[in-house]
Amino acid sequence: MAKPKVAFYWCASCGGCEEAVVDLHEDILKVVEAVDIALWPVALDFKRKHVEAWKPGEVTVAFINGAVRTSEQVEWVKLLREKCPLVIAFGSCAHLGGIPGLSNFTTREKSLATKYHKSPSVDNPEEILPKLETEINGYKLELPEFLSAVRKLDDVIEVDYYLPGCPPVPDLISQAVTAILEGKLPDKGAVLAPDKSLCDTCPLKDSKPDIMKIESFKRVATTNPDPEECFLAQGYVCMGPATRSGCGELCIRGNMPCRGCFGPTSEARDGGTKMLSAIGSLLDATTQEVSDRLAETMVDPLGTLYRFSLPSSILKHRLS
Ligand code: SF4
Ligand code: SF4
Repeated sequence: MAKPKVAFYWCASCGGCEEAVVDLHEDILKVVEAVDIALWPVALDFKRKHVEAWKPGEVTVAFINGAVRTSEQVEWVKLLREKCPLVIAFGSCAHLGGIPGLSNFTTREKSLATKYHKSPSVDNPEEILPKLETEINGYKLELPEFLSAVRKLDDVIEVDYYLPGCPPVPDLISQAVTAILEGKLPDKGAVLAPDKSLCDTCPLKDSKPDIMKIESFKRVATTNPDPEECFLAQGYVCMGPATRSGCGELCIRGNMPCRGCFGPTSEARDGGTKMLSAIGSLLDATTQEVSDRLAETMVDPLGTLYRFSLPSSILKHRLS
């Protein structure tokens, strides 16, 4: 019997999600035994014309990682959606917008200026920007358009399932592949990870005091957290209360607070807002003045609360 075919594609991402597939270690052999890989630009030299020639349904599932920022990425994900019955948003960037989504704090024009004019490693006195079309020696060269904002995958195409994480962890990838092969997927639209908060599974949860009060915010860059005590109770912003579990509490076990890469559970529309609400109730302040002073001790609140999720938040992106 012919093996099912799968596709891996990457948009605006760092390549870590591709590493996550390689991190399956010997389990990748089981995957290769069970399926044929029809597209994997990071490892195999398939071209767009090959994908265009696929019959609809010929390739069972597309795992797409990365956020969507260029016109070329829009074209590719639409092509994969047209060809594949199943599309899985693979990793935080496809799921929520991810780290590339932080550029939605600024405008397209300022992003381009930073990259092409102001970066210390750039020598561009005429302040030239990439053009969509350039003529050189009679040849026309084309570049994709850099769109106005970063979008998560389901802002552009319909997505069937989400594998969360920066990157998704091998256990969840294996479980997802097995569920696809055995036809045991949950209801469409599900996030393929437990729907409970990281605090519920955290090894430090029993160290939480009954009454928690934050007197000032600390940073791991400048202080040493106690590895035996809940980060939030120590004053570090830990996104555990607003983040879905399933990663194996990787950061916590490395003595780092959670940064929220798995996104919120189904109970929260916006993880950053949920965390802000949790923090607000923990501040040791009885007046607005004290509360403002405490809030000022939190460095980079937007980048902390929305590190992986700005394009999926109620804020989404800057308009001007
Ligand atoms: S706030 Fe962070 S450290 Fe504390 S229990 Fe939750 S996940 Fe664990
Ligand atoms: S602890 Fe938080 S930031 Fe770290 S891998 Fe898990 S969900 Fe992601």
